[in-house]
Amino acid sequence: MTNFLMASFDEIIQGKVTDVYFMRTKEILRKEGLSNIRVVAEIHAYSMPKGFNWAILVGVGEVAKILEGKEVDVYSLPEGTLFRPVHPVMNIEGPYEAFCEYETVILGTLRHSTSIATRAARCKKCAGDKPLLFFGTRSVHPIIAPMVDRAAFIGGCDGISDVCGAERLGLKPLGTMPHALIVVFGDQVKAWKAFDKHMPEDVPRIALCDTWFDERVEALMAAEALGSRLYAVRFDTPSSRRGDMRKIVEETRWTLNAKGFNHVKIIVSGGVDEEVIAQLKDVADGFGVGTAIAFPLSIDLSMDIVEVEGEPRSKKGKWPGKKNLYRCWNCFEDYVTLYGREMDRCPKCNSKVESMLKPIVLKGKVVYEEKSPREVREYVLKQLKLLKDLQLDSAR
Ligand SMILES: [Zn+2]
Repeated sequence: MTNFLMASFDEIIQGKVTDVYFMRTKEILRKEGLSNIRVVAEIHAYSMPKGFNWAILVGVGEVAKILEGKEVDVYSLPEGTLFRPVHPVMNIEGPYEAFCEYETVILGTLRHSTSIATRAARCKKCAGDKPLLFFGTRSVHPIIAPMVDRAAFIGGCDGISDVCGAERLGLKPLGTMPHALIVVFGDQVKAWKAFDKHMPEDVPRIALCDTWFDERVEALMAAEALGSRLYAVRFDTPSSRRGDMRKIVEETRWTLNAKGFNHVKIIVSGGVDEEVIAQLKDVADGFGVGTAIAFPLSIDLSMDIVEVEGEPRSKKGKWPGKKNLYRCWNCFEDYVTLYGREMDRCPKCNSKVESMLKPIVLKGKVVYEEKSPREVREYVLKQLKLLKDLQLDSAR
């Protein structure tokens, strides 16, 4: 069978996708009779990209699948939980031998989805109520497109363009029209009219308005060609021809309004990230984001042993001891305590706090309850609303 170069699920759960030093460690511990030493390993991100002070945890269900049947108990923040640097996001407890070689795939699974969802959440936090569409499938290998689409959607994107990913998520894929359609027609008005003629009524008429002429000129041409049927214009101008996008959008808005086309919205895509959204959010009506979310800055989650046979023990730079994470939903503050030192009320406001590390695997049995992508996304959006403004001065 022809296939892409990829690891199978069996290879992953058999522990074959691993750094060789874990296999060596396992062999040495076994030969020294230390296989059954019980440890607590903690997953956390001690540092985040410059300008980031939170991230969104995604990939919890996949970790539960990886550890199913292993002699471990796993406690995790729920899928979609916002977490801060240094705080524990997951604890894995059991004989070290039971999960040693899975560190590589557990971290890889969490890091990738978490980094994508976090960047999507930053973009959504900036966009507010303006729609944010994910167009980034072309930035990643197709094998992982559904995973990337899911993380982007959960992180806060309002829609995704990939047909396969949308189907898996139970969504309708969203999109406009490519330059290819206009280039093939050789005439933008003919292309826009053909789109209007052939597409079902529930597909919004969004004309791509930057193929041949100036954006303002083409936007007006589209509005005159489609009239009240035109929902929006999209600008996807290459950076070499772009100039000041804010000024282009402002001028187009003014001109459309002056000619009576107040109903026509303006959507911007191409090279958009949270900084661009912040610059344009009061003048543009929606954003298409691709590479910034699909190829995000990495949230470097790592795993460290923090307890050995009940004794707090860790390498330097990491906080020893198994921990709890409590959240005050009133202050939207998180508190870390050593395990066993329970916290009931918020030290600031005295509200009841929630213990955030919930069981997902107990003695190898998966107890994780999968929520729908929509539910997880709602949970993410609820937390984003509680966050104070994003500081973007050092996002890149
Ligand atoms: Zn509080």
